[in-house]
Amino acid sequence: VAEQGLDRNGVEALLQWFQRNARDLPWRHDRSPYRVWVSEIMLQQTQVDTVIPYFQRFMQEFPDLDRLAEAHEDRLMALWAGLGYYSRARNLQKAARQIVAEYGGRFPEDPALVRGLPGFGDYTTAAVLSLSRGQDLAVLDGNVARVLARVFTVEGDPRTGPVRRRLQALADGGMPAGRAGEYNEALMELGATVCRPRPLCESCPLAGSCQARASGRQQEFPARGPRPARPCFASVVLVAPIGGGRILLHRRPGKGLLGGLWELPAQRGQQELDANRAPDSIVRPLLCELLDTLPARAGKGAARALPVFRHHYSHFSVELHPHEQELLPHTLPAEWRAVDPATRDGLGVSASDRRILDSWAGGDL
Ligand code: SF4
Repeated sequence: VAEQGLDRNGVEALLQWFQRNARDLPWRHDRSPYRVWVSEIMLQQTQVDTVIPYFQRFMQEFPDLDRLAEAHEDRLMALWAGLGYYSRARNLQKAARQIVAEYGGRFPEDPALVRGLPGFGDYTTAAVLSLSRGQDLAVLDGNVARVLARVFTVEGDPRTGPVRRRLQALADGGMPAGRAGEYNEALMELGATVCRPRPLCESCPLAGSCQARASGRQQEFPARGPRPARPCFASVVLVAPIGGGRILLHRRPGKGLLGGLWELPAQRGQQELDANRAPDSIVRPLLCELLDTLPARAGKGAARALPVFRHHYSHFSVELHPHEQELLPHTLPAEWRAVDPATRDGLGVSASDRRILDSWAGGDL
């Protein structure tokens, strides 16, 4: 169903506000499809301030699509380490390789072709093509949804199909032909900086036409459905010195949440935990299983338990039980490595492993 969206005056006020207030972000310079694409992927699930240094390092090392396509996976994962959601990095490279192989290294212009690349949904397709090429495609992300839900008092949870379609129709309806990039970015910026969960309506260029503001109901929009429960599992993680102070890392197979990363050896339980800490009856068997899977035998001393903490992912949490266990020297198969803890930065270890290693190395544990 077509919706009218913002009227001409509203769009004009929005664009003028954006010209005066746009933040100076590195990906706003030199808007090639490649740079916009990398920034959009990094910004999914991650705050702008966190992304900036990652984006700059990434562009220094992989300044164009060809370099990314040729990159060694270890290097890619090392540059991504700490950003989380590692399948994003793998999909970036897969898509870069596909663009090189099928489109001669030139980013396709047809939205249907772009939408077919690994890691591209409706949002990323519209964002890259509108921001870098000015194609008339309106984006709908969480920020845009919040602004439009308030301006037009759209009832219902934007994560559900009919509400999302209505918001998309409102975004499409207000889009000024030929200025989609600016319009999209202005709406996203407004949501990120002014129409935040706690809105700053007195600084808002849309205040005059905002229906939620007129009725004092800003906080009611967008409606939020119940939060899905986030299960928690116990995981035993080993800091395992092996021969001369090096520690053992294992490479996860290249699929799944953390695939392709080098990690401390770990064994995760299947049993869902409640709010309490996992009892010994869960942790001990995990530790025994883990020691059995290692490519080297444990030395004389028993495993030493280190302080426990919880790490949260979007859909589940893990209660980490780090242990230190000395191992006897042994030849290692290819998916295992013994590394100097001081130089592990060259490897893509995850944020939670870094936390364990940093405090272990610092002697805090
Ligand atoms: S007036 Fe307030 S609630 Fe309405 S769009 Fe602006 S910041 Fe958001």
